[in-house]
Amino acid sequence: MDMLIGGKHVSSEDNENVINPYNGEVIDTVPIAHRQTADLAIQEANNAKESLQEMSAFKVSNKLFNVVEKLKENREDFARLLSLEVGKPIKESLVELDRSIETLKLAAEEAKRIYGESVPLDAGLNGKGFFAFTQRLPLGVVAAITPFNYPLNLTIHKIAPAIACKNTVIIKPPTEAPLTVMKFAELLDEEFPDGVVNTVTGYGSEVGDYLVTSTEVNKISFTGSVTTGMMISQKAGMKKVTLELGGNDPMVVLKDADIDKAVKGVINGAFLNAGQVCMGVKRIIVEDEIADEFAQKLVVETEKLVRGNPLDLKTTLGTLISQKAAKQVEETVHNAVESGAQILTGGARDGAFYEATVIDNVTTDMDLVINETFGPVAPIIRVNNVDEAIQVANDTEYGLQAGVFTADYANAMRCAQEIEAGTVFINKQSTFRTDNMPFGGFKNSGVGKEGIKYAVEEMTKTKLIGLNLR
Ligand code: NAD
Repeated sequence: MDMLIGGKHVSSEDNENVINPYNGEVIDTVPIAHRQTADLAIQEANNAKESLQEMSAFKVSNKLFNVVEKLKENREDFARLLSLEVGKPIKESLVELDRSIETLKLAAEEAKRIYGESVPLDAGLNGKGFFAFTQRLPLGVVAAITPFNYPLNLTIHKIAPAIACKNTVIIKPPTEAPLTVMKFAELLDEEFPDGVVNTVTGYGSEVGDYLVTSTEVNKISFTGSVTTGMMISQKAGMKKVTLELGGNDPMVVLKDADIDKAVKGVINGAFLNAGQVCMGVKRIIVEDEIADEFAQKLVVETEKLVRGNPLDLKTTLGTLISQKAAKQVEETVHNAVESGAQILTGGARDGAFYEATVIDNVTTDMDLVINETFGPVAPIIRVNNVDEAIQVANDTEYGLQAGVFTADYANAMRCAQEIEAGTVFINKQSTFRTDNMPFGGFKNSGVGKEGIKYAVEEMTKTKLIGLNLR
């Protein structure tokens, strides 16, 4: 599939295969672009600014709604392609499509709500006699750099609000899974003037880096790992940056919790998309008194997961993004076992598949829970009380989301207030998001928020206009 730049299909002499991680087959090839191509996309995006900014909010909103309809019509085709390139069960791909449609719809609605406020300058010293108001203006060109795990929805979380507030966009899709995003860009391009949406494929270290350092790009909206995010924040210069980075989300299960509900939370939280979820349940912190019962029930439910072809509707556990990624998870679990943890179920790899694995007696000094383990692993850390649970929950460089299971309101509120994370859910796992909520982590999990309204705030600049009436 070619790139889309200035409304034209653009190829490259160098190409990269997109591989289906389930069977190793080549699905398609995409160009490996170089700096000149990234530069062309920057010029086209800048040239298209005027045509987009001239459009009324009414028209922008309607056009986004038209794309919503097109995406709905193509829902199954997009979901299939997503499963092929990511290895994600088709059921989950259909959910990603539904969320993508919803996200786009929210942006189409938000396009009509971008306005400033009147400001009482007379509340400040010497401000009497003014009439003043603010306007929210587009930044110009927004570059969206996205990861492989939820390529479509995460890209829409950037480009839909960007266009809603009249920024043109350049998308740098994930290298491993670029196809769904590229196909979606074509749908947008049918509605909007040439150059409003552009795609540049290739390596992050070359084209991604070029976009990050260019002075003609006004904002970087990045989702991906902490390592890449930190590099971007150091290189972006004066442009605005939003960073949605990794997570190491805790699930705290206190002794009075509804254990069945908490177990269900782990199944939905630790094994979704084979554990490759930023807000996945990555550390299960359980009060010792109920830990045996919790672990037994978790094993029973984990063993019900169905591994298989991602395109089969019965499959609930797909592959990881690559064999290399699965090997990395295998090694991390192996090291934890060497240090004293016990596998209760799972623990085996087959190509890019890794079994859904429950591992008990994990301690906070193991790499398995110090780093973000991006695989279907549920590590249980046993603690003695709520104080220790909070201390362990916060013992990490990350702070994306968290879940707490308890029937005690006082402990629930205490955990909610003391756990350092962008979101804390009570009686729900961290792996939950509606597309309108403010989403974004504390600590090394990121800077800035997404969730359409909040993304728009980060993609506009505020101008104050003051009229001296005296
Ligand atoms: P990654 O950081 O390796 O890559 C993300 C994107 O950045 C890719 O498109 C890549 O090509 C590009 N990139 C790489 N080097 C770059 C550079 N030097 N300059 C500019 N761009 C560069 O991440 P990944 O492995 O694709 O995704 C997994 C990570 O993403 C995990 O850490 C996960 O937690 C995180 N993630 C976070 C969220 C969130 O919303 N917080 C959501 C999903 C995934």
